[in-house]
Amino acid sequence: MAIAAVAVIAAPAPAVAAPKEKKEVDCTQVKCLALTFDDGPSKYAGKLLDILKKHDAKATFFLQGQYVKSRPSFVKRMVKEGHGIGNHSYSHPDFTKADAGKIRSEIKKTNDAIKKAAGVEPKLLRPPYGLSDLQVSDIAAEFGMPIVLWTGGSRDWESRDVEKIKKQTMSVVKGDAIILMHDWVKQTVDAMPAIIKTLQRNGYHLVTVDDIIKHQDLKPGDAFPLPEGWEN
Ligand SMILES: [Zn+2]
Repeated sequence: MAIAAVAVIAAPAPAVAAPKEKKEVDCTQVKCLALTFDDGPSKYAGKLLDILKKHDAKATFFLQGQYVKSRPSFVKRMVKEGHGIGNHSYSHPDFTKADAGKIRSEIKKTNDAIKKAAGVEPKLLRPPYGLSDLQVSDIAAEFGMPIVLWTGGSRDWESRDVEKIKKQTMSVVKGDAIILMHDWVKQTVDAMPAIIKTLQRNGYHLVTVDDIIKHQDLKPGDAFPLPEGWEN
């Protein structure tokens, strides 16, 4: 106890000086990684947010409008606690099989729901299943949004197993990785404390997708990372 007390007194600045939410991380100078959670907010989002907060980790949530509407308080909390928010459609149709009107309405309804829930407009689009084509890219451009996919996935929806999720996630870890996960997979949320601790021990700063793509000069409709055979 005495040692802890001395450490606190010796700290140069009190913890309250800079709000954690505003902390800037320069990913050109330090190792960065973005955890992304699709399809939510799920019923486990509150527990996940608690874990992220405890470990001072940021994430990005690609939300479905239908769940933004049913669980708006989680979205509000995500924004308040400094996480990134993206649009993942309203009801998760395959955009490459939908007509332009349907795609526009899926994007718009979700943007509106997020705005209503948390007062912000999402700037990134991740189409359902990560499936995109020229039409999707053109419509994303109309909305002023780049398309953000992922560099590696946890395959959590497939395994639904804490140990396998940890192992698969660590196998796709690299600098500036954007990792796909799902907050509706309970085992993902259960695996998060161990995954975050391992990443932080390995020197990774867990940041939002915005921090990773900041230096990419993406224009509306551009995709990152580029799917095979694509050019922006
Ligand atoms: Zn999805």
